[in-house]
Amino acid sequence: MDIQLQQVGYSYSKGTPFEKRALVDVNLHIKSGSYHAIIGHTGSGKSTLLQHLNALLKPTEGEVRIGDLTIQAGKRVKNLKPVRQQIGIVFQFPEQQLFDETVLKDIMFGPLNYGVPKEEAERRARVLVEQLGLPKDVLDKSPFDLSGGQMRRVAIAGVLAMEPSILVLDEPTAGLDPRGRQEIMELFHKLHVEKGLTTILVTHSMEDAARYSDRVSIMHHGRCVLSGDPIEIFGNEERLAEFQLAAPRVVRFQREFEALLGYPLAKLCLTEEQ
Ligand code: ADP
Repeated sequence: MDIQLQQVGYSYSKGTPFEKRALVDVNLHIKSGSYHAIIGHTGSGKSTLLQHLNALLKPTEGEVRIGDLTIQAGKRVKNLKPVRQQIGIVFQFPEQQLFDETVLKDIMFGPLNYGVPKEEAERRARVLVEQLGLPKDVLDKSPFDLSGGQMRRVAIAGVLAMEPSILVLDEPTAGLDPRGRQEIMELFHKLHVEKGLTTILVTHSMEDAARYSDRVSIMHHGRCVLSGDPIEIFGNEERLAEFQLAAPRVVRFQREFEALLGYPLAKLCLTEEQ
């Protein structure tokens, strides 16, 4: 399922003295199966944009197409449920949304709400706990008795239990230590590769975008100012500087390496250490 934004604008509190234009004329195409990073400074419109990707916000100008569904500014949309089921959003600090008595109940909540039979919801929860590297006995515990890193994994399991085909990640590693960061990013990478999940990563980490994505878009003052291949985008330091962004370390290393070799490398060479 592709997602396409065409000339999308969004204003908070439209028509009031508090009106705030957060998206301006955004054109963006997120292809099925891609790993698309959306980067930009705080306040550039990233979170507003991602809330359009499953119609939590509807455009005040232009249109958003999610698969066969078209959401146009000012028009009502009948049934958003199938789309919401297909698109899982891991919000910032998702552990803050845990609420149930046990981890098992918390993970099963979404699927049960969408009519998945109890046995199937429970099966998904058990598989996910293992996939996400959580101890088996975690299922009967209260989510509030877990460590911060474990709570985040439980919250992610709750999103994955819906079996979405598109996963939207809003700064998924915020607040984690470097090891926790890497583990979570590797987990999403594995899901992307093994399950073919379309992954949309909203981040201000150029390093993560360079390492994991195959497409990058840059948001600046509510506009999508650049979109393209990570090598092209990150290789153009002058253009990045216009938006007060610096090329990620990994790209700078590669440039130095290429200068030594005397010829350009076709792909970004990324290793665990970088
Ligand atoms: P980012 O995720 O890149 O930090 P946001 O999408 O959160 O950017 O914000 C874009 C702009 O919209 C900012 O100027 C922000 O202050 C404003 N904004 C965000 N949420 C609201 C809101 N609920 N009401 C009014 N303005 C908002």
